[in-house]
Amino acid sequence: MRKKIVAGNWKMNKTAGEAVVLIGEILDLLKIRPVTEPLHRVVIAPPFIALTKATEILKGHPYVFLGAQNCYSKPKGAFTGEIAPAMLVDAGCEYVIIGHSERRSYFKENDTLLMEKVKIVMGNKLIPIFCCGELLSERETGKQYDIVRSQLGNTIFNLSREELQDVVIAYEPVWAIGTGVNATPEQAQDMHAFIRKLIAEKYDSTLADEMTLLYGGSCNAANAAELFSQPDVDGGLIGGASLIAKDFVEIIHAL
Ligand code: PEP
Repeated sequence: MRKKIVAGNWKMNKTAGEAVVLIGEILDLLKIRPVTEPLHRVVIAPPFIALTKATEILKGHPYVFLGAQNCYSKPKGAFTGEIAPAMLVDAGCEYVIIGHSERRSYFKENDTLLMEKVKIVMGNKLIPIFCCGELLSERETGKQYDIVRSQLGNTIFNLSREELQDVVIAYEPVWAIGTGVNATPEQAQDMHAFIRKLIAEKYDSTLADEMTLLYGGSCNAANAAELFSQPDVDGGLIGGASLIAKDFVEIIHAL
């Protein structure tokens, strides 16, 4: 059975102290109205500096887990400013976002590097939330399927079946991220069905059916329910709306 996930990507927002407050607000709201479905999960990915404080609050929570927004592709050494996957494990993380479009564009992360990151992340028993998605110009010229096919084909489709089954894929059309213009439910469903078809072709239909595919891009409390009601959309990767406890919890309950 597919897991359903709502993951909050806080990006470069919130100090450690502010993160403690926001996580506290989210947990308080979830105490009033808990998640009861056994296969539903929540992931919170604050900045690195907040991870150790966040893990103290989340430790032992039955369905809210800690994630990181990035990590490096090497286990340790002279890589000034970088964070190793084992450090994230030590800080209490279970998930890591890999290949976010902001990493791809601002930090020039390419498929080769992203694949190295996925490998080392999985070697440390962390679950990658692997992002893919096309630019506006690519959608406008009908290239969205080719782009997503090549982003996945060059990276996670090199994993074995056993490895891939632990990966969460997030389809995030770049034109929808932080713009207030979300993909329509039909556009999201269409691409998720396409990704499932690619998995079925490369691996098998059982795996395609079991994998968790998230939608990301201006998903909010008002549109989450319709997006998540699509048969191939198993939740969301949420940026801006994950910084407001009430909105984030509403999105969680839209699963
Ligand atoms: C994201 O950054 O992954 C994202 C989906 O952002 P937003 O929800 O703000 O569009």
